[in-house]
Order: sequence, then structure tokens, then C-alpha cells
Amino acid sequence: MTSDIITKQELSAYANLLRKSQSVCILTHMSPDGDAMGSALAMWHYLQTIGIPTVAVCVPNEFPSFLKWMPAASQVLIYDDKAEECQTIIQNADLLLCLDFNDLKRIGKMGEIAAQSKAKKMIIDHHLFPADFADVTISYPQSPSTCELVFRLICRLGDFQNITQPIAECIYTGMMTDTGNFSFNSNYVDTYQIIAELVKLGVDKDAIYNKVFNTYSADRMRLMGYCLYKKMKIYPEQHTALIALTRKELYMFNFQSGDAEGLVNLPLQIHDVYYSVFMRADKDKIKISFRSQGDRPVNEFASEFFNGGGHKNAAGGESYDSVANTVKKFEDHFKDYFNK
Ligand code: 5GP
Ligand code: MN
Repeated sequence: MTSDIITKQELSAYANLLRKSQSVCILTHMSPDGDAMGSALAMWHYLQTIGIPTVAVCVPNEFPSFLKWMPAASQVLIYDDKAEECQTIIQNADLLLCLDFNDLKRIGKMGEIAAQSKAKKMIIDHHLFPADFADVTISYPQSPSTCELVFRLICRLGDFQNITQPIAECIYTGMMTDTGNFSFNSNYVDTYQIIAELVKLGVDKDAIYNKVFNTYSADRMRLMGYCLYKKMKIYPEQHTALIALTRKELYMFNFQSGDAEGLVNLPLQIHDVYYSVFMRADKDKIKISFRSQGDRPVNEFASEFFNGGGHKNAAGGESYDSVANTVKKFEDHFKDYFNK
């Protein structure tokens, strides 16, 4: 079966913390994606199954509507809507399970509350360079998704029989979304062995694909067309594409949370574009996504110029300037980095 990447020490540290916990709060990152929601909800189901009395999932802000079908998604508490309730839960928890993020900065205002909470903290994650805030850190950047780590963890604890169909569906969702439906970061035999187990447990992978990827609104499709036809700027020498959307443009397409999902990946379908950057106005900032192919890191650039970070081929950042100035800042610096 799958190889043992999680160490025995990590396993027993995890089991020890769980044994002492009556109340577990699962936290995941800002703008939760399929892997964040999948790992959090899989854990939520699992911890209930093994008899932890109180389990909650708190996320910083709204998650995309194409993930609302996920089993128990309606149980998730959104800090933006229920700040006080989240605060009380985080303060009173025995254990904070930090899934799919590596730094308390990634969970917005909940980060300060978590830092001050007396709860033990544990990271289960696959982002590079975990910050030093947790009592136990299970960090494997070579894992394509946090969901895969959750599956491994449950199995290594001898609890495979406790993986119910809802848990399997949550795990599959994160594995699928964090690899772009197994189109990048997906050359690992273990991944497919895990999928085989999940399908045996009743996962209908075709149905999940449909629920996650074939759910666009007409407005979203038109926004995509607008991005490609009117907004995509190509820098041929740097093999780079940029799309930047202002608030007004988002408004033109009745922009809803999640509508920008995946737009950054589109220019990579052009045969000689290796880097893609997508910027859009958000509530109080510009949100920036970076993608690249192969051995061309974008996380360092995101961190140096846009207060962000992430993985080698998928990173993000932010800017508190106008869209025009953010584009200018990007253009002033990217040529030294995006040059292969
Ligand atoms: P996305 O472009 O999908 O929002 O983010 C891609 C990846 O970049 C995420 O999985 C996350 O690892 C990372 N990321 C996105 N935004 C930020 C940010 O503001 N700071 C850091 N450190 N990483 C980010
Ligand atoms: Mn992830």
C-alpha cells in the first residue's frame, strides 16, 4: 500500500493530543479552497466518529458555492459572519487543528485569537516553511494535498474502518482540487492507490468533478471570456500572462465569491506561456494569484513583492494600492524573476 511518510513520533504526538482533548476546533485558511474545506470537513466527521465530544470548524471567510454540497458544509462557522461564536470556540478549545495553512497570518483575525488561546495547537499541512507556533507540526510539502495527509494520518492510526463515505468524499475533493483534477503535482503512485481506496468506499469521482467544476454561472463564463478577449496581456519574452480586474469590471459581471477561481490557470494553456498572474480587486485590497509550470518558482516573487507566498507553482499575495499601481509594481520587477 502507500508509503509511510508521517513519522511514528508525529503519530504518537497527534494521538496524545487527541486523547487529552474534549473540544477540538478545526481551523483553515482565508478564502478556503477544496483542500482546505475537504481536509477540515474530513477531520470534522472523523473526530465525531471516534467520539470527541465537541468538534467545530471555523474558517475566516466565506467559501465558494461550488463546495457547499460537501457533507456537513452547513456546520462550518464563518468568522466574518459569526465572529463572537468563533472567538468563544477558539478560546475554549483544548486543541486547535490547523489544516492546510502554515502560519497564523493565513487565517486573518482568527490568527490573533488562536495565538492567545491556551489550547494546544497542531499543524497538518503541505505548505513550505511552517511557522513556529504549534505544539505538533506535521508538515509535508511533498504531499500534493493536505487531504492526502489526513487520509494517511487516519490510516496510520489504524482507523481505516472509520473512513465513512462522507469522509472519503471530502478527502477526494481536496486531492482533486489541489492538483487541478490531477493535472499537476500528480505523478505519485500513492495518490492513485488512495483514490482506489476512496472509490471502494463509495466516492463517485465523476459526480464530484461535476459538482466542483461544472457549476459556473453564465456571468462567470462571460467574465472568463472578457478576461481572455479583453484583459489578458502577454509578455512574450518572459513567457508570462497577466490579467488584472478592477472593482468596476467585477461589478459588470455581477461578481460572486468563487467566480475568479481557476481564471489564473487559463493562460497556461497557451503553448509558450509558463507564468500566469491574476489580480483582482477584493474588499479592501488587491488579491493576486501566481501560477507557473515546471521548475519556475513564483512563491519567492509573491513573498518579496506582494507580502504573500505559497507553493513553487501556485502562490498568492496582496496589494493595498490601486490595480493600476499594482500592475506597475509587477511590471517593474517581474522580468528579473520570470525569465526562463
Ligand atoms: P490562490 O492563488 O489559489 O489564492 O493561492 C494559491 C496558493 O498560494 C495557496 O494555496 C496558498 O498556498 C498561497 N497563498 C495565496 N495567498 C497567499 C497569501 O496572501 N500569503 C501566503 N503566504 N500564501 C498565499
Ligand atoms: Mn492545500
